[in-house]
Amino acid sequence: MLKSKFNIKDSTLKIVLLKKNLITPFKIKSTMTQEKEESDIPSPRREIEKLIEKGDLKGLLYKAAELHGHLCPYLAYGVMAGYTAIKELKIKSRGMEEVIAIVETNSCFTDGIQFVTGCTFGNNALIFRDIGKTAVTVAKRDGTAIRLVLNPEFEETRMKEYPEAYRLWNKIVVKREKATEEEHEKMMKLFAEISLKELSQPINKVFKITHLKIKVPEYAPIFKSVICSICGEKVMEPKARIKDGKPVCIDCAKEEHYILDGKGISIKREPFTL
Ligand SMILES: [Zn+2]
Ligand SMILES: [Zn+2]
Repeated sequence: MLKSKFNIKDSTLKIVLLKKNLITPFKIKSTMTQEKEESDIPSPRREIEKLIEKGDLKGLLYKAAELHGHLCPYLAYGVMAGYTAIKELKIKSRGMEEVIAIVETNSCFTDGIQFVTGCTFGNNALIFRDIGKTAVTVAKRDGTAIRLVLNPEFEETRMKEYPEAYRLWNKIVVKREKATEEEHEKMMKLFAEISLKELSQPINKVFKITHLKIKVPEYAPIFKSVICSICGEKVMEPKARIKDGKPVCIDCAKEEHYILDGKGISIKREPFTL
């Protein structure tokens, strides 16, 4: 069936053009069937997958920094942990919760994890346990999992290894003291250099690694939406409240809700409007 509709000239031309990166598969018009066209849609994660295959940690770190915005050591640790988990579990992530990552911190580390594992805040494959450890457990649906936690003995040696970077970090980030533009730039440059260096650290020195079996969280449920009777905005049904017999959103009901910010998860009552 497929063969009879397949135009040899079209396909040969297409392969040549694809190899030369002159066209993208989405733009191809040919006589091939719909199924054939769909199979040509490349995985959006193909570049990341190639880097994982090659063991190109530097490439992965740079890609992760596209999301994170800067290069820093904890982003590098996240990349290293994500890469190790993917390799050890022999998995590919399509961002459909077939692989999940359970992180224990909302820091730079988590962006490295999100990028390399493909388990993100938005695709529900990222689970956040707010316990403040630089650690991640990556699991398959059958519960086979690997947990990597940053080794405190290793972490403590970093300040001694890179005193200038940590002095600047303490001044600019921890104490929020006034710093010159040069100091800012120096800190970012040092952190970028450190992040690249750290990639060559032996993984067993950086992390304590355990293989385990876990009870994998259920797939994310799909909820109905309702319209808030006060502001008119759409809201997930389980998040809505009932006022005078009508649904209202949490903000209009002035109820408490959880927020996730730099401090982790906490309860807040008011929206952020002034
Ligand atoms: Zn960072
Ligand atoms: Zn409302």
